[in-house]
Amino acid sequence: MFVFTSIKEYQNALQQKNTSCVQAVQFYIAAIKEKIRLNAFTEVYETEALQQAEKLDAQRLSGAMLGKLHGVVIAIKDVICYKGYKVTAASKILNGFTSVYTATAVQRLIDDGAIIIGSCNCDEFAMGSTNENSAYGNVLNAADETKVPGGSSGGSAVAVQAGLCMAALGSDTGGSVRQPADFCGIVGIKPTYGAISRYGLIAYASSFDQIGIFSNTVADAALLLDVMAGPDAFDSTALSEKKSFALGTVNPEKKYRIAYFKEALYHSSLDKEIQQSIIQLIKKLKSNGHTVTEINFDLLDYVVPAYYVLTTAEASSNLSRFDGIRFGHSTKAPVKDLTDFYKQTRSEGFGKEVQRRIMLGTFVLSAGYYDAYFSKAQQVRRLLVDKTNTVFADFDVLILPTSPTTAFSFGDKTDDPVAMYLADIYTVFANLTGLPSISLPLFKHSNTMPFGLQVMAAKSNELTLLQLSSLLMQQYKTYTHLI
Ligand code: GLN
Repeated sequence: MFVFTSIKEYQNALQQKNTSCVQAVQFYIAAIKEKIRLNAFTEVYETEALQQAEKLDAQRLSGAMLGKLHGVVIAIKDVICYKGYKVTAASKILNGFTSVYTATAVQRLIDDGAIIIGSCNCDEFAMGSTNENSAYGNVLNAADETKVPGGSSGGSAVAVQAGLCMAALGSDTGGSVRQPADFCGIVGIKPTYGAISRYGLIAYASSFDQIGIFSNTVADAALLLDVMAGPDAFDSTALSEKKSFALGTVNPEKKYRIAYFKEALYHSSLDKEIQQSIIQLIKKLKSNGHTVTEINFDLLDYVVPAYYVLTTAEASSNLSRFDGIRFGHSTKAPVKDLTDFYKQTRSEGFGKEVQRRIMLGTFVLSAGYYDAYFSKAQQVRRLLVDKTNTVFADFDVLILPTSPTTAFSFGDKTDDPVAMYLADIYTVFANLTGLPSISLPLFKHSNTMPFGLQVMAAKSNELTLLQLSSLLMQQYKTYTHLI
């Protein structure tokens, strides 16, 4: 039987002829079919993935040079373009639309020997925290199918959690990689804004969006990041410097300077057991010689409002392109004029949450309210960036909870959008400031669900983030197998 533990072990097994890429793909196709009820995929590229696997097996046996991701089976969130394949953003408005080019991130994976196995379900246009906003139905959390997988990249998280691929891509605008990783008990990293090109990623809020990675191990995430990151002529916001994220051997003796925000750890919305687990972890870190310091963060209660003002403003502009003429769905209803055609098409094509955000964003940008909301939120964003500059002048990393609770039950928060938004309290900070952040599956709650620890680092300091993460996973994980 095919067993996957890490990319390194898989590639060793390939070299020793103990397995093949075809065997790996066949295993995942069978697993996807067996667990179809989880609804993690919007499309599976069965034939093409098998063909690619055959090609890679032949290449390896011929003694050719192999890529770092040789044979690695990867799923992509359905907001990332792959030429010739449908891309839906889990929205009816993109019904029938096929990608006309391939995202740079995906192209780099393929060029390095990866096999793309399919596209994953998500919240419509990446807006949501539970995957309940998808036009393709709910994704189920494989640890407990009555619970949400988190969102918006819920399908990608479950694809890794349930063993339906080796790693997956998501997008993280306000936590959509870290929060589902937290709910599903896997690793999820959002790199520095601009570390991975956004070319071919359907825009939600362009100054926040970043492609992220789901994996079983920190080393696997580092490998994918290393392959995808780097400048890109197609994205002027991609960072101009190519950094290496090769993890190397992690020094188990290295001592870190760690900070945490008092207001975050003692926030009233934080589950007491999650709080206690982090307090215990801090004690353990200190007794092992790390410096752990409590610092103040009096802006915490402003992060969610600032995020929802700025991202909805950007979304209202980004989503104006879906007019029924250039992409996907066009209304068939009788219309009076062009404006009526737009209205009908967009009312039919967009789901409730997307409509809510377009309206909110249009409102905060409107002439009479721009200064009261949009400008204020931008000022908050500036203060947050200033705060992180002072924090990372003194500390290597900042630790936070990833989410205030473990995975919710379906329907728990669907009637109260504000309650849903407030649950993003710990994740949006990294997007407002553009900093790299990871969720590590260190804990398990007495309610049986997993939860993670969030670790943030300074701009482009993914290497420190990944090295400490590796150490935390080796020395501080409090449970082993979840499912
Ligand atoms: N939950 C957040 C939201 O609804 C995060 C979304 C994201 O990161 N794409 O906006």
